[in-house]
Amino acid sequence: MMNFSYTRAETVADAISAVSGDPGARYIAGGTNLVDLMKYDVERPGRLVDITRLPLRDIEATPAGGLRIGALVPNSDLAYDPRVERDYPLLASAILAGASAQLRNAATTGGNLLQRTRCYYFYDVGTPCNKRAPGTGCGAIGGVNRIHAILGASESCIATHPSDMCVALAALEAVVHVAGPEGERTVAFEDFHRLPGDRPEIDNTLKHGEMITAVELPAPRFGTRHTYIKLRDRLSYAFALVSVAAGLEMDGGSIREARIALGGVAHKPWRVPEAEALLGGQEPSRELFGAAAERLLQGAQGQGENDFKIELARRAVIRALGQAAAGTPQVQSVKSIN
Ligand code: SF4
Repeated sequence: MMNFSYTRAETVADAISAVSGDPGARYIAGGTNLVDLMKYDVERPGRLVDITRLPLRDIEATPAGGLRIGALVPNSDLAYDPRVERDYPLLASAILAGASAQLRNAATTGGNLLQRTRCYYFYDVGTPCNKRAPGTGCGAIGGVNRIHAILGASESCIATHPSDMCVALAALEAVVHVAGPEGERTVAFEDFHRLPGDRPEIDNTLKHGEMITAVELPAPRFGTRHTYIKLRDRLSYAFALVSVAAGLEMDGGSIREARIALGGVAHKPWRVPEAEALLGGQEPSRELFGAAAERLLQGAQGQGENDFKIELARRAVIRALGQAAAGTPQVQSVKSIN
């Protein structure tokens, strides 16, 4: 039996006050991850503060020409919003590559950023796991690690971040709006999630009591020169072994700017600015894309069962950049790779 109290917040300020004053309190919205974690006894919050009634469900145009997406906008509403479909198809594609229709109806924009790793050991309280129980060890190192990280891992944890949406948000250079007991702030998407280091129990840079209120997209870019490729063990309702969000800005026949983010390979969406810079001013070619992939994957380290991910990621990056350059984005509702 797990006892916890439940309250429903009517305002953002009330919610922040309730959670920040209680170390055992957690926000709950769609609950698509947190409820599972409670059922598995991985998380035991003493108090849940329901934020589903807060006025954070709008998608609004920003003065900068982008979109501000309220934290409670369901993933499905976001993917099918006409402005997102038209101006940010990379994001729509990534969202539709994830979960199931039912889950996307319940899961929220803010919650997507906060979902926790799908490492098997993290969910099995009978095994050691530094993320769940700091100091107990890591069952995945030397264990079953097919889905685990090849980049940015540590001796404490080799978990990956499971989101598809976040990979697109990284490539789009979104900004996270946060409210907390000390006021409001914004966090560049790159700085929101963290690598495990020696504190793998901390997934991101939010402080206790802080709440995501919105995710802001900059003005649209990439036109049709983008793609989201997701490679997984089965064709639907599976987390990525490797995913790639790629977008190119072209200047005639040359690449002016590139953005590439990898999913399924690290504790956070993986970007390497030097790899993107390699493409600037160059004409698209398989050799060039191969060089970018090598730079992106520099230092990649397999853990045994997931060694294949290094070559899989290299090939996925080359394919994604090829599709982006040709203006033939992968359509996630059609599962075959073109
Ligand atoms: Fe836990 Fe991380 Fe090791 Fe998985 S990889 S068992 S989440 S410490």
